[in-house]
Amino acid sequence: MEHAIAAYRQPVKRLFIQTFGCQMNEYDSLRVRRMLGTMGYETTPRLDRATVIFLNTCSVRDKAEQKVYSFLGRLRALKAQRPQLKIIVAGCMAQQLGTALLSRFPHLDLVLGTRAIGALPELLEGVQADHRRLAHLPDTDQEGWQQLFQGADQWISGVSAPLTIMQGCNNFCTYCIVPHVRGRERSRPSAEIVREIQLLTAAGAKEVVLLGQNVNSYGQGLDESIDFPGLLRLIERTTDIRRVRFTTSHPKDLTADLMRCLAELKTLCRHIHLPFQAGSDRILKKMNRHYTVADYLDKVDRLRRACPEIALTADVMVGFPGEREDDFEGTLQLIDTVRFDNLFSFRYSDRPFARAVQFPDKVDEALKAERLVRLQALQASITLAKNQEEIGRLREILVEGESRAAEGQLSGRTSHNRIVNLVGPRQIIGRLETVKIVAAYMHSLKGERIRNSEALS
Ligand code: SF4
Repeated sequence: MEHAIAAYRQPVKRLFIQTFGCQMNEYDSLRVRRMLGTMGYETTPRLDRATVIFLNTCSVRDKAEQKVYSFLGRLRALKAQRPQLKIIVAGCMAQQLGTALLSRFPHLDLVLGTRAIGALPELLEGVQADHRRLAHLPDTDQEGWQQLFQGADQWISGVSAPLTIMQGCNNFCTYCIVPHVRGRERSRPSAEIVREIQLLTAAGAKEVVLLGQNVNSYGQGLDESIDFPGLLRLIERTTDIRRVRFTTSHPKDLTADLMRCLAELKTLCRHIHLPFQAGSDRILKKMNRHYTVADYLDKVDRLRRACPEIALTADVMVGFPGEREDDFEGTLQLIDTVRFDNLFSFRYSDRPFARAVQFPDKVDEALKAERLVRLQALQASITLAKNQEEIGRLREILVEGESRAAEGQLSGRTSHNRIVNLVGPRQIIGRLETVKIVAAYMHSLKGERIRNSEALS
């Protein structure tokens, strides 16, 4: 009876969390869930049941920012009904806009800068106690990484777990906001990363995705002497994780040693995401990318010679200020030459703080849209053709869970990062299975489980 009364008196603590933008934000959201989990918060998928709403925002593209504004607008009515509800905004938009967000949205309680996530538990208790409204934007990290290691049994972990190994960026590409809102590069010590992977594997993860704005330059500024290939080898040697992926890589920092790792390490997936952004030297220089088209093609060539099976994906942008038709033709030419497995393509948009905002000769929106359609049509034909080449091949997939697209089926991923849907029992979720590819579509493949003996033949 006493227990029942005590439980009744426990304040309800429910966290609704919405993540916008990149995988690094996904990871920060995971950190928030873990931190608030140790304070007794359970996660809810229902906005109307939450006592804390946490929005982890992105301002890398204008579209992501507009989604956040619209989401925040919708929360006004909820806050009016339940004034005790606490609404928090974190991530790049919070860092960039700070107190302006508090002024624009009077129902917002707390704005947390990109270096402030470690301070969340304390700040949340503060705003709950005295109903202050606050923007906290520290200049130095309040990481609270150690909180990742508390209450490991409460971790919410899927088959594939994101893991940030470094934060910030030193590159200052002229279109990009990241160095301005995330600060300069900081790497996490390797022992801390290894320990986190060990805890993740104990909690059921089979794959980690190592995250950073430019993972290839991991290790700079650390007390230990280690680089990114060294970290990959250390992970293979000292953890039980079955698969390792990483993103993102800057082409200028792709080394011969990393190419060797991609060819040799058993745990490392045969896939690299290598954004090229433009196929014109004139535009690459204006973007401050520090490579030419010839440099990029040379790296791709060496990479494919070192690891013929490697799958290659990239980011590309159309309509950077001053982009002429011949520049754009260069981009199409590069796509045609490399034949990427997949591409993420975007229209350039002005971002506050980024140098390109000042550049003249902005490209007309209709022309950007037209170029994007042409580029995507070219890539679609390549992606489909490459997927069709997979038919008949045997591939090992990590079964990640139920398929979102194919009802009643499971879904997994090949080492090359292709999604494969298959029929199978739920017990194989989390397992590496060999499948034969029997059909190919634009966004996925269809596989059939085969017996190991067949796989070896
Ligand atoms: S490498 Fe360039 S695009 Fe990538 S985060 Fe750094 S500044 Fe931004």
